[in-house]
Amino acid sequence: MNRLRALNALLALLLVTLLLTGCERQESEALPTYTVGMEATFPPYEFYRGTEIVGIDVDILKEIGRRNKVSFKLEDMAFDSIITAVQTGKVDLVASGLTVTEDRRKQVNFTRSYAGAKQVIIVPENSSVKGVADLSNVRIGVQHGSSGDTYVTEHIREPERYTNGALAISAMNAGKVDAVVLDNAPAENHVAGSHGLVILPEPVVEEQYAMALRKGNDKLLNMLNITLDEMDADGTLAAIIEQHMRENKPEMQEQAEGLFARLADDFQTDFIKNGRWHYLLDGLLVTVEIALVAALIGIVLGFLIAVIRSTADLTGRLRLLDWICRVYLTVVRGTPIVVQLLIIYFVIFGSVDISKVLVAMVAFGLNSAAYVAEIIRSGIMSVDRGQMEAGRSLGMSYGTTMRCVILPQAFKNVLPALGNEFIVLLKETSICGYIALQDLTKGGDIIRSQTYDAFLPLFAVAAIYLCMVMLLSHLLKKLELRLKKNER
Ligand code: GLN
Repeated sequence: MNRLRALNALLALLLVTLLLTGCERQESEALPTYTVGMEATFPPYEFYRGTEIVGIDVDILKEIGRRNKVSFKLEDMAFDSIITAVQTGKVDLVASGLTVTEDRRKQVNFTRSYAGAKQVIIVPENSSVKGVADLSNVRIGVQHGSSGDTYVTEHIREPERYTNGALAISAMNAGKVDAVVLDNAPAENHVAGSHGLVILPEPVVEEQYAMALRKGNDKLLNMLNITLDEMDADGTLAAIIEQHMRENKPEMQEQAEGLFARLADDFQTDFIKNGRWHYLLDGLLVTVEIALVAALIGIVLGFLIAVIRSTADLTGRLRLLDWICRVYLTVVRGTPIVVQLLIIYFVIFGSVDISKVLVAMVAFGLNSAAYVAEIIRSGIMSVDRGQMEAGRSLGMSYGTTMRCVILPQAFKNVLPALGNEFIVLLKETSICGYIALQDLTKGGDIIRSQTYDAFLPLFAVAAIYLCMVMLLSHLLKKLELRLKKNER
């Protein structure tokens, strides 16, 4: 009875959380709202100031919104999924310092261009690389999926690809690459913010930036084009760009002398300045929320699958359900979770406006269920067959014996393995950044992209995961002990 009540409470909790996260984004807004995809580590076009995204693209959008009485909701996402996002309707448009290229034109429609740009080479001050001609023999860092990536790959050599330009720069600071090819405006910002880097005068290639829309979305395209024309004609466009270019210089940190003074300094920049610790705290909450609900989905669904499969094994009934479960297990365990997450986000929920947190909960829950199912099934199988017979001969039905005799023992046997699965699940959520969720890992990434310091943010993120796992292990051990006591 108690168990039933606990299960009910669990299900109710699950339902409420799902409803809450599902509704989260649907507050009614008076103005028609368009979602905009951008990768917000691209100063001065889009970057974080505190927890807010600001920049040239943001100001241009605000002005377009003001003139047309519409509003734009910004979505920070990985640059390499930005074109897919607009194609699949995940976002209505992309405004992300996006270069117009012929290849991209086949996939999406571009607005008129609103800014000129170029790809430039960044190198350490004393580098032997002096121009484009010297690039063919050195390791080049680029941002994955960017026009710089395409150009270097097609015309120079295979580059090292990083999630964003800032990470490519940190890689160069750490000696992992010899040169970075990047758009000029963020390059200037990054060089101003780090020590000992220069931009070579000779550009790699000239480009134009424009916004991108799904093909066929002509109404929005027209609105953007007309307003961009107006803003060009009345000088607003130039004014916005000029103002941000002028401010495009993060204050340079004086480098402290000595290891400890340097660490203290970095700590200040990484976590205290601009309230950057918020990225970690907010990220932590998202991580915990996703892991918790996913674990619940995993347990409930996993339990169900395990019972169906064992029943089919033990009694020969439920053959069809068993077959479906087996297909499910094969598919889920046979494909990487990142791919599953992307498929669920971009394909299955492609055209639905659904909260990303919810998508992640479902994706991780469905994935975990497969592993939980096999763990619990192995538990059921490990219970002596005589127990079932004993139960049945006492006059209990198959269901009652399963519920009251077999499952409690099975659960106890597999508790350590289940605990292990939860630990894996918690850490697996660190791939949420792929669908632009700001979980703990992504929080650390954002800090790294702003401070170019890899050391402290990565260690802080690792330490927080470690603490969570230790806490979880502790709780599981307690539960195990409690169950053991009940045995006697
Ligand atoms: N201009 C580059 C491109 O379109 C990079 C843009 C960006 O990183 N936001 O590929």
